[in-house]
Amino acid sequence: MESIVTATYAVHFNEIAYLQLNEHLAESSYSKIFVLVDENTHASCLPTFMSQVAVANYEIIEIVSGEENKTIDTCTGVWEALSELEADRKSLLINLGGGVVTDLGGFVASCFKRGIAFINVPTTLLAMVDASVGGKTGVDLGPLKNQIGVINQPEMVLIIPSFLKTLAERQLQSGFAEMLKHGLIQKKNYWEVLKLISSFDAIDDLIYDSVVIKNKVVLQDPTEKNLRKILNFGHTLGHAVESYFLESENHETLLHGEAIAIGMILEAYLSHKLSGLSELELIDIKTTFLRRYNKVDFSSEDIKIILGLLKFDKKNSHGNINFVLLNKIGLPTIDEQIPDNLYAEAFAYYKE
Ligand code: NAD
Repeated sequence: MESIVTATYAVHFNEIAYLQLNEHLAESSYSKIFVLVDENTHASCLPTFMSQVAVANYEIIEIVSGEENKTIDTCTGVWEALSELEADRKSLLINLGGGVVTDLGGFVASCFKRGIAFINVPTTLLAMVDASVGGKTGVDLGPLKNQIGVINQPEMVLIIPSFLKTLAERQLQSGFAEMLKHGLIQKKNYWEVLKLISSFDAIDDLIYDSVVIKNKVVLQDPTEKNLRKILNFGHTLGHAVESYFLESENHETLLHGEAIAIGMILEAYLSHKLSGLSELELIDIKTTFLRRYNKVDFSSEDIKIILGLLKFDKKNSHGNINFVLLNKIGLPTIDEQIPDNLYAEAFAYYKE
């Protein structure tokens, strides 16, 4: 698979990824190499990864897995470990893990001694097609998603789909939600192909297509002034739902992609009401997501709290909550405002 070149770095796949990494390590005079993992990627991915990497010495730093640990406290722990292990400004941090490891590791690297180099090696489907590419790094603030962070690009991203062999089915489905989003915002044909996928066994080409779509958008607007906002389709309500479920004692936590899938149904309904998405496409979107992701029960109290969380969305400006809607599948529109009465209707549509 040909490497995908972004503005400042490249995304390499499979064997080429290891070749490029080894070449990069040979050429760059890093003082020390650190590999950030969580306990799962430590056990399932690190042995394979390091068996292919030509370095004699490296240090492993492990964090506890899970979104609830994507916090500044975890960063402090990693910064302390880097300091104790005598990392300096010429050190390299390799983030080997899912979106929590790549988001948090990228942020840790971007701030440590005002910035050290980092490389992302995503090990979940979600991180391969989305989180590891584009340079958004950061952590949550309490339950509020990604409130603290910076946009800073890695040295390279290495995508090795065979890591997915040990990933749980539910996690694969979660990542698939972001791939479906790529179809909805950019390419109807891709959406149609993805709808038919029933197994994740041979999806290297589709992972590649998703990275191409995301990269094309990011290249045109790296700092999210305009176009890049389209990648947030489903995320305004989706993040609020995810935040609420992270904290709520009455609900099991949702995975990122599961929350975003709910957000995409809700925002597709708003698109139908406000920006011309046809009823046929709305039904197509709802049935496609509900075929893959269990319907979640929301009480009216839940909905009230979720809507209260919208004010923390990062796309908000001047007191407005800005939504990405669809004119049709493949054609998004940004900075849309929603009349208050439509939120309840959108949840009612999701539930019916
Ligand atoms: P995650 O990092 O929590 O990984 C999911 C689980 O899978 C974890 O328990 C992890 O330990 C385990 N795991 C990882 N790789 C494995 C493997 N190969 N085998 C077995 N287990 C493995 O979650 P995620 O879904 O990868 O990422 C979600 C995060 O990504 C969220 O915090 C979200 O906000 C963020 N995100 C960021 C961006 C961005 O542009 N930066 C985009 C989308 C999502």
